[in-house]
Amino acid sequence: MSIALAASPARDWDALAAALASAVGAASRLRREEPLGPRTTLRVGGAARIFLEPADPAALAAALRFVRTAGVPFFSLGRGSNLLVPDEGVDGVVIALEGPAWSAFTPGGDGTVWTGAGLRLKQLCGLATKAGLAGFEFLEGIPGTVGGALRMNAGAMGGWMFDRVEEVELMSPEGDIARRPRAAFHVDYRHCRELRDAIALGARLRSGVTAAAPAEDIARQIDVYRRKRQESQPREASAGCVFKNPPGDSAGRLIDQCGLKGLREGAAEVSPIHANFIVNHGGASAADVLALVRRVRAAVRVQKGVELQPEVLLFGRRWEEYL
Ligand SMILES: Cc1cc2nc3c(=O)[nH]c(=O)nc-3n(C[C@H](O)[C@H](O)[C@H](O)COP(=O)(O)OP(=O)(O)OC[C@H]3O[C@@H](n4cnc5c(N)ncnc54)[C@H](O)[C@@H]3O)c2cc1C
Repeated sequence: MSIALAASPARDWDALAAALASAVGAASRLRREEPLGPRTTLRVGGAARIFLEPADPAALAAALRFVRTAGVPFFSLGRGSNLLVPDEGVDGVVIALEGPAWSAFTPGGDGTVWTGAGLRLKQLCGLATKAGLAGFEFLEGIPGTVGGALRMNAGAMGGWMFDRVEEVELMSPEGDIARRPRAAFHVDYRHCRELRDAIALGARLRSGVTAAAPAEDIARQIDVYRRKRQESQPREASAGCVFKNPPGDSAGRLIDQCGLKGLREGAAEVSPIHANFIVNHGGASAADVLALVRRVRAAVRVQKGVELQPEVLLFGRRWEEYL
């Protein structure tokens, strides 16, 4: 599939990388042409022109100030579980908050816990269970980080990430840090306005119950949710639900009713288990996935009169360029 895309300005990426490396300091990790496919759950797509793992908030702030002055776009990467990376990669600086400096889990002793943006939700569930903090069980099986879950207001089993938020620490694109209470955030279905451009550094989350819960009870609830997912979702590589549910309806049901389960493009397939998942059987390209996205949308539009909107984000690009 060939698509005419808006050309990115030509840049001397080697020179930019060298200058950025000296701005952030030797403790941060920076690489050129870092493949992003392996850093996503769908496992497709090209490389980041520059990939940065800042060592700490000071290095992150230095990076943001650098890219701002240089006029280079930046993109936050969490676990890459809600992303489709285009085959041509990402023309910009991809920033990942990886490592212990970004993965705090610090209970406050008052039913709250401070979590770093890089902490995986799976780790959060496990650590919360041990700490007797109930209320995070619904996050089990969402393969993202705290930062990605805040940006997406991730939700499952009737719970939403922002239900549990007390305050969020974020860094503005100018490199300034602020702590904001829950009330300062405008969130809805898979969206948080304040994190569209800013980077979440961490969040204080509140347990759903006031008293400490026995770890066995929390673990039992996690098991219930885990089994539900195992029964209803494919095991192959995917980015979760591809389309948002239209108001009062289910995207998966509409796609299923259009007879699209099993539809294939190369090694990408509309999952026969869950019609709102596109799975990669190994070796699919982003173009394969994009072609399926277009075919599914067209069929649902014609047969059901519904225009499905992607939930998965096109990393570094806008869907309007492709759809
Ligand atoms: C098998 C499977 C099941 C899933 N089930 C669910 C589900 O039940 N419910 C659900 O809501 N989602 C689900 N998802 C989608 C995905 O896991 C969530 O959206 C998750 O919150 C994304 O987190 P991430 O760290 O992977 O973010 P990424 O995919 O890396 O990024 C998503 C967005 O968040 C931004 N971002 C990442 N980190 C930060 C940060 N620190 N600060 C600001 N922005 C940031 C990125 O720039 C991007 O815009 C599922 C995915 C898979 C593969």
